[in-house]
Amino acid sequence: MPRARKKRCIYVDTKARYFKPRGVPLDNLDIIQLTFEELEAIRLKDLLGLEQTEASEKMGVSQPTFHRILKEARKKVSDALVNSKAIEIYGGDYKMGLRHYECQNCKHIWETNTLPNEESIICPKCKSRIIDDAISCHRKFNRNI
Ligand SMILES: [Zn+2]
Repeated sequence: MPRARKKRCIYVDTKARYFKPRGVPLDNLDIIQLTFEELEAIRLKDLLGLEQTEASEKMGVSQPTFHRILKEARKKVSDALVNSKAIEIYGGDYKMGLRHYECQNCKHIWETNTLPNEESIICPKCKSRIIDDAISCHRKFNRNI
């Protein structure tokens, strides 16, 4: 029996979108499909500059799996850039990560899986803006993440 694949944990906006060379109709272009977990891998490693261990933990996958996702993502993006192909960000096998917040003033802890505006995070209890946050796929708050 095939083993059920564990869903990757991501924290990116999951609206489907296209990137394409200017002035060429989409119908005339090769389209590369980049999955949301591939986008998340690039975001964590290349945009945020996380270490591979940290990035793989955030996505809830092993380091070799993360490396494989990242490698595939970079290959697709560079293929599109070099060979003038369109990129469609769509699909994949993922679940949304939970973001945990802890107020540094009153120590209130809460979690959400919606995308917050970083500047508008306010403690719901004491209205403080001094907030710590962490992302994980786990329901239970874990201070080590
Ligand atoms: Zn508070």
